Amino acid sequence: MTTPQDPIHGSCLCGAVRFEIIGPPLWLTYCHCTRCRKVGGRANLAIRAEHFRWVSGADRVVRYVPDPPHDLVRCFCGSCGTYLGEPDTNDVGFPIAASCLDDDPGVRPVLHEYTAELAPWEEILDDLPQFEGAPPSGG
Ligand SMILES: [Zn+2]
Ligand SMILES: [Zn+2]
Repeated sequence: MTTPQDPIHGSCLCGAVRFEIIGPPLWLTYCHCTRCRKVGGRANLAIRAEHFRWVSGADRVVRYVPDPPHDLVRCFCGSCGTYLGEPDTNDVGFPIAASCLDDDPGVRPVLHEYTAELAPWEEILDDLPQFEGAPPSGG
């Protein structure tokens, strides 16, 4: 278990990129949009920018800048390709790929978003609230 004052650690598959989150996460959601599907990042942990820091491998991170209207820059390990989320690209807050976490973030998924873009082979098997697009409150 992780208590709020413990850093939450994350890393890529090859271990070159490591980061930590030093404050309580905001929330955890499942996003079914095609963009998250393509990068394999379904579970997104929203955090405050001030709580994020690279521990190692920041120079190994490669960034994908999407075409408008999308503006969040997606980060990947340049060695193993692991999707890291959209860290360090917004000065307020951003989603981290929960799949990279090595510790329990202490929060659990609260909703499904962008279910209108659900893949034909995907099935939602829990009772969490579902939103066809972005949730009204932003999470
Ligand atoms: Zn890697
Ligand atoms: Zn998404």
